[in-house]
Amino acid sequence: MNKPAELKLGTVPVWINGKPVSTAKRYGEVFNPAIGQVTKRVVFSDASVVDAAVKAASAALPAWRDTPPLRRARVMQEFLSLLKKNQKALAAIVTEEHGKTLPDAIGSVQRGIEVVEFACGIPHLLKGEYAENVGTQVDTHSVRQPVGVCAGITPFNFPVMVPLWMFPMAIACGNSFILKPSEKVPSASVRMAELFQEAGLPDGVLNVLHGDKEAVDAILSHPGIQAVSFVGSTPIAKYIYETCARHGKRVQALGGAKNHAVVLPDADLEFAADALIGAAYGSAGERCMAISAVVAVGAAGDPLVRLLEKKAKAIKVGAGDAEGVDMGPLVTGPHRDKVAGYVEAGLKEGARLVVDGRGSAVPKEGFFLGTSLFDHVKPEMTIYKDEIFGPVLIILRVETLDQAIELVNRNPYANGTAIFTESGGAARRFENEIQVGMVGVNVPIPVPVAYFSFGGWKSSLFGDLHVHGVESVKFYTRTKVVTTRWPHQDTPAPGFHMPTLG
Ligand code: NAD
Repeated sequence: MNKPAELKLGTVPVWINGKPVSTAKRYGEVFNPAIGQVTKRVVFSDASVVDAAVKAASAALPAWRDTPPLRRARVMQEFLSLLKKNQKALAAIVTEEHGKTLPDAIGSVQRGIEVVEFACGIPHLLKGEYAENVGTQVDTHSVRQPVGVCAGITPFNFPVMVPLWMFPMAIACGNSFILKPSEKVPSASVRMAELFQEAGLPDGVLNVLHGDKEAVDAILSHPGIQAVSFVGSTPIAKYIYETCARHGKRVQALGGAKNHAVVLPDADLEFAADALIGAAYGSAGERCMAISAVVAVGAAGDPLVRLLEKKAKAIKVGAGDAEGVDMGPLVTGPHRDKVAGYVEAGLKEGARLVVDGRGSAVPKEGFFLGTSLFDHVKPEMTIYKDEIFGPVLIILRVETLDQAIELVNRNPYANGTAIFTESGGAARRFENEIQVGMVGVNVPIPVPVAYFSFGGWKSSLFGDLHVHGVESVKFYTRTKVVTTRWPHQDTPAPGFHMPTLG
């Protein structure tokens, strides 16, 4: 970290109890990756700031949880309309701090907005169940109640969409919320908190903190927080899951990925190659649902590689807000160097480097790297085993669908996968046997829409419930089951033993 006072930069504040706070003991640097320079500093929170946020969230909770769901939904509708009005401005913040192209950023904000649309239906989603006469003159009903103060910790790659996977649903369910976005992309979350306040959200219901491990650890151990949603890399997801469990918190922790696309010889290869190019290199490969490994089956291999080579070389790299650019920079200099290091590692391990992104024509300033493509990659190579999270696509060759399914199922990650084929039977088998949370058939990035739930299996998710959709209602609420009897003259006297209907 530089000495922030000398930088004379704008400060991204934390947002506690409806107000921005810009003072701190520590600050972080925020880069614009397209120019490779620090453009802002961001307040880093310590345990005392986390505690202040928890106090604000706890104070706001009783009134908010007792606000009728229909009224909460009206605030959500107002927020929805402000998000729509500010969609391009939010996307511009995403491009400035993350680097992805503006059209891609606009699309990602849209996918987040759709979660808010879903959250507007909260009165219906919160309805419980009722059963009459579960015993003689006894009725039972269930209600869903908010869990309390919830926290969300999010990664750098979707500065608007991933926070919107969490806090709208949590808040619609009647909880208060503390959001800790990635310190690399902090501004959009504060802007969303301002918009939510403008929409009528009472102060303290949504708070935004920034920082690194210090802030996260203070969140994980704070006794006033009941549930934690996390999205990020697998090692941190595992750490979050275990630490939350130790502190008795409910937790869902979504981790990293290595997403395979299986291409069968009967597929429309031109269509598949176009789909794979966008899925591999869009957002510079910094997507948890990016396709990073192609499994080419039999005769599909050689023609597919030729198509991918041509298309990968044609990708235009440049600043995300420039016209006609397909792919922006990577998020930081160290990350760019790490990804370039994987290209070197792949060469050393003996894979065939078809396209070398290190030599591509890219702007000199900024954290740019061209597209790389490897063929004949083996499962034991680092470039297969690790999540690279950059513009590097690798191709593995197998002879049969059986071998392809076995390869995908052996990988510890299990976020998304896709199959390209014209055979319904092959696709159905793949869908049935593949051990991955989200599956596409001729769809390269099968991100579920907001009214389904999003989440992987195995090392891509620690916890039980996925984000958004109906599973998020389950995550952000607790079920209470109430059994009632209203005695009158015919009511049998309560028995001594376990009651049954006999
Ligand atoms: P990251 O794990 O480094 O950081 C995620 C969050 O954890 C950030 O808020 C960060 O401040 C915090 N954090 C980082 N190190 C920590 C530590 N040691 N202790 C406590 N907290 C810590 O992830 P990232 O680099 O920001 O994002 C990229 C990763 O996120 C990739 O692995 C990607 O696959 C994954 N991701 C997964 C999904 C999904 O839905 N499964 C979605 C988006 C991104």
